Amino acid sequence: MNNIEDNKRNQINDIVSAVKLSSLLFAGIGIFKCFSIESSKIVQNMIPMYMIISAILVLALIYFIWAFSTTKKFNLKRIKRIQLIENSIFIIIFSIIIFRSGAYASEYKFLFLFIIITTTIQSGMKHGIIIATISSAIILTMDIVYAPKAPINQYFENDLILVGVFLLTAWPLGFYVKVESDYIKKLQSLVNEDGLTGVYNHRFFHDSLREKIISCEEENKPISMIFIDIDYFKYYNDLYGHQQGDEVLKTIGTILKNSVNKEDIVARYGGEEFAVILPDTNEEDAVNIAESIRSKIESTYFKGEENQPNGKLTVSIGISIYPDKAKSDIELIKSADDALYRAKFFNKNRVETYTSILDELKNDIDEKHIDLVTSIKTLISVINAKDRYTYGHVERVVTYSRLLADKLKLNERDKKDLIYGAYMHDIGKINISKEILNKKMPLSNEEWEILKQHPLNGVEIIKPVKSLQNISHLILHHHERYDGKGYPDNLKGEDIPFLARVLTVVDSFDAMTSNRPYNKRKTYEEAIEELRACSGTQFDPAIAETFIEVIMESKDRFDKKYFY
Ligand code: GH3
Ligand code: MG
Ligand code: MG
Repeated sequence: MNNIEDNKRNQINDIVSAVKLSSLLFAGIGIFKCFSIESSKIVQNMIPMYMIISAILVLALIYFIWAFSTTKKFNLKRIKRIQLIENSIFIIIFSIIIFRSGAYASEYKFLFLFIIITTTIQSGMKHGIIIATISSAIILTMDIVYAPKAPINQYFENDLILVGVFLLTAWPLGFYVKVESDYIKKLQSLVNEDGLTGVYNHRFFHDSLREKIISCEEENKPISMIFIDIDYFKYYNDLYGHQQGDEVLKTIGTILKNSVNKEDIVARYGGEEFAVILPDTNEEDAVNIAESIRSKIESTYFKGEENQPNGKLTVSIGISIYPDKAKSDIELIKSADDALYRAKFFNKNRVETYTSILDELKNDIDEKHIDLVTSIKTLISVINAKDRYTYGHVERVVTYSRLLADKLKLNERDKKDLIYGAYMHDIGKINISKEILNKKMPLSNEEWEILKQHPLNGVEIIKPVKSLQNISHLILHHHERYDGKGYPDNLKGEDIPFLARVLTVVDSFDAMTSNRPYNKRKTYEEAIEELRACSGTQFDPAIAETFIEVIMESKDRFDKKYFY
């Protein structure tokens, strides 16, 4: 839409510049005429000199106008200032020409019409009438001051008509420009609005995010992004129908609009997801705003909300900040969405801020390897995009690993290694095709062999990063089995590094409780049974039992859907 607006402004500027140019040509004729009359009166051989000066003047002016008509890169405020200067120069030139070509008797008074028309088109009725009034005042003053003292001043009478023409040009033309721009504004708001909720729509959200990032970058200010998703909304729709669901969306749209400032952008990002762009807002303020939105929605009564799984209609919120936690608009959206995902995972109706394991990792890593770690992060997001069933898998495995590390009372070094290992354990899947990762049928022997390569591939990928070497055994052995029937090295029991045994339990538990292409998700209870059943064969029994304790103790913190 902004492009369309810029385009329109540029086209108008082009035509206005063309009109101004023509007026200068007329003015040029005026200059030649008055100078040739004067110089013929004085010295004959001075004509060429005056003509040259006049020609240079006119050419310089032509250049001046064209230069500004092509300065489309200027912002609106600057363009307005340039137009003001340009108009003043024009008025001065036209006044001089009129004065020199006979003042009250001049034939060039019409020149003012050009500047009245162009100003009205460019800047609207108010400016047009101001220019018309100034022009009228100049003409009438010349009539009064320089006209012959005759009882009837014919020039003055004619000029009164001319003044009428000036004003009658500026007024209706300005009115037309105003009607048209109001109409465009109305259309723009219709195009940018979401029909149901009255907040901005998805497209406008993206356009303004890009714009806000550019302007906040110039001013060195942060931008916060809030992502909001209604909890169990499918459940609500299924119970009461889409129409009543739509009423909820409308109410939430209104709550959001009332909770932020005028310069913040509230948009409907998807079906039941909203996003808010908060320019010049730091993390602390964004958390406060998000928390107040969350609690307002929690305390608002929605018809029938008592039948929702948690007894009321609530939302989960994710927050991220540019440039602290994301380096581009896409990263900002993605990280806010990741934070939202975590809020959902931790039992919903809560606010979560984006934290990146990578940022933690950066503190522990040599400066010269930071770039590599960034590439690793890119690799992980590529894997997540390829294998949509593992979306969130890494995030959950890391979360479980943190809890289990505390329960196992691991020292700081081991805890960090376990978390980094959890973060990168599937990195070797980058080389495996989407078809194999997402295959619904059981894998063929050949495909299975390819899949089994991923621990080795992972080790290869992190090889150049020296400070990651102490997690390579975790990546390599996270698919070993306690009974020695795992891969790649068929290690058995205590021969498998301890942290790799821990990771196997956590990774497998999440695989069981997530929807995978080849099998349906288990509930937490079912997965706990499975852990017990495979204790001593697939899993280290002591670790499996400790992990079961962790899950039982923290189950209230997790999304209830895992328990159905
Ligand atoms: P969660 O708590 O994990 O967010 O679960 P959920 O059921 O809210 O999430 P999910 O993404 O599975 O479902 C989104 C639902 O939002 C699906 C659909 O019924 C509903 N929805 C999406 N767009 C609209 C809409 O325009 N109007 C209405 N009434 N419902 C919508
Ligand atoms: Mg959703
Ligand atoms: Mg939802």
